Amino acid sequence: MSGFRLMAVHAHPDDESSKGAATMARYASEGNEVLVVTLTGGERGDILNPAMDVPGIRERMHDVRREEMAEAARILGVQQMWLGFVDSGLPEGDPTPPLPPGCFALEPLEVPTAALVKVIRDFRPHVMTTYDENGGYPHPDHIKCHEVSMAAFEAAADPEQFPDAGRPWEVKKVYYNHGFIRKRLVLFKEEYERRGEEFPMAEWLAKWKTEQGDLMARVTTQIQCGDFFPQRDDALRAHATQIDPNGSFFAVPLDIQQKIWPTEEFELAKTRVHTAIPEDDFFAGISKDETQ
Ligand SMILES: [Zn+2]
Repeated sequence: MSGFRLMAVHAHPDDESSKGAATMARYASEGNEVLVVTLTGGERGDILNPAMDVPGIRERMHDVRREEMAEAARILGVQQMWLGFVDSGLPEGDPTPPLPPGCFALEPLEVPTAALVKVIRDFRPHVMTTYDENGGYPHPDHIKCHEVSMAAFEAAADPEQFPDAGRPWEVKKVYYNHGFIRKRLVLFKEEYERRGEEFPMAEWLAKWKTEQGDLMARVTTQIQCGDFFPQRDDALRAHATQIDPNGSFFAVPLDIQQKIWPTEEFELAKTRVHTAIPEDDFFAGISKDETQ
């Protein structure tokens, strides 16, 4: 499959490298155009990697995050653009404090939607990815990312909406990223047991709330991308201020991941073409005529 266009919408720089990154790297390597749209600048991200909490970094955090993002995009082989909204931060405390004025989560829906419609009509993606209605995890920018993406998916195709934002374009499919699959960790744990080794994420797995069931029940589409896990990890490490290289994301060695779970998971949220579920390809059901 080549000659298609894929657009991944993300809330902050680094989200693209932790959600669906190996899938993007695979499609890019196969001759498709891949564009990451980053809605906010990640201005409220703290330094989450102790090794990067050194003089000279915090003072120029804005530039540092842009440099990190450029390097991650280069590693993944994708294009990237900023939509220019301001990170809302993750409100913490009880009760949670109000969101800061001017932040992305407080923008009236039509403002970021208009901006994203323009990008869709310029880039003309066949497939988009975004987050589910819960944001994947409950950060206000992630939930807003879902709302804006779904509104733009509809509006971009509608000549009545945002007529100044370019010629209408029908994105054929939109998917949700589903990175947090409990079953994946259970299978990793079983592999460690077979090897007689201690599972490094045992504590994480034990704490996992199961009331809502496993998101695997919502997955429609699994993309084979194990060969691209090294690129995914390198891209994530390129966001050096945000990612602790000793963190849990890297706890399970790549050879185990590639053997036990060599896919990334997505949910087909809306489609304008016929496709059979389960799928193993974003572009299944989309005609080659649509690549113009
Ligand atoms: Zn984020």
